[in-house]
Amino acid sequence: HLRFSGGGTGFIGKNLGELLIANGYNVMNVARMPGTSNISWSTLELSGLPNRTCAVVNLAGQQFMDFTKSWTPGFKQNVQNSRIYTTKALAKAINESRDKPKVFVLLTGVGAYEPSDRNKYDESSPTTGIDFFSRLTVEWEKAASIDPPVRLVIIRSGAVLGRWGGMIKNMFLPFYFGFGGRIGTGKQYLPWIHIDDLTSLIKFAIENDNISGILNGVSPKVITNEEFTKSFAKALRRPAVFPVPESILNLFLNPERAMIMTKGQYVIPKRVLEYGFKYRYEDIDDACREFAHLCPKK
Ligand code: NDP
Repeated sequence: HLRFSGGGTGFIGKNLGELLIANGYNVMNVARMPGTSNISWSTLELSGLPNRTCAVVNLAGQQFMDFTKSWTPGFKQNVQNSRIYTTKALAKAINESRDKPKVFVLLTGVGAYEPSDRNKYDESSPTTGIDFFSRLTVEWEKAASIDPPVRLVIIRSGAVLGRWGGMIKNMFLPFYFGFGGRIGTGKQYLPWIHIDDLTSLIKFAIENDNISGILNGVSPKVITNEEFTKSFAKALRRPAVFPVPESILNLFLNPERAMIMTKGQYVIPKRVLEYGFKYRYEDIDDACREFAHLCPKK
């Protein structure tokens, strides 16, 4: 089996690649910098999908929280294009291939749902396109336009928690040195999933022919930012008494970008549970214990 992926060199992509290789797949990535197991986006456009590709996954996208980059119109364009163009390029390659893969898995985010303290969202909830992230997600998912019989699975992921990427990589050292704290009031929901569960869910979606459509890639146990903060600090055996005021984040990050941290959504993985997916880390305390080490095993 060959699995072909955009964004395979990133945090989630590397973890997924390791899981799939351990399970007997050959993996090839599309990346901006070609290498031994990578091809470039222009090669994909010219040559199409390699023969005998069984699954295509898109995990490509300029990080929103790259703090070295200001939230300028140019950067926002890059955030958008890196998701929409890569998704379109992979969808086109799938539609034009003669030896069709069985499935296209696209990873988007729970930013599709409007932040709210009251609403509860499952996969059937509408996406309103009310702010930058929900509008982006609507466009991003629309770009995954593939023809039957190839299955399309869109996983709307919460914050992916693991030691070497995403949110935890950014906040590990402040928490480790005892300078951690909740964000704003801490009452905002924090939809989350452990990296091992997300990669297993992608594999589950690849391997089960009955799965298609939207899946919420989140733990079934919904928590707030404050609950996460307490759990992570406890796992590190540190205090977490330095709250980060919302106004500071708005000032330094721009309110439009800061809302990823200052606002949240209550998201339930209804369809994921109906399909019978088993989580390894449903509980935030168990998840935090796994990555709360300066140098963990993996
Ligand atoms: P990383 O930043 O670790 O990896 C991003 C990947 O995207 C890299 O492989 C990189 O490939 C590729 N990429 C970056 N910029 C561009 C660009 N301008 N054009 C084409 N490719 C680009 O991110 P993650 O692994 O954490 O996230 C992957 C995807 O999952 C993203 O789309 C993200 O929005 C989504 N997601 C992530 C969450 C998280 O908590 N991490 C939560 C929800 C969704 P290369 O440099 O090799 O070209």
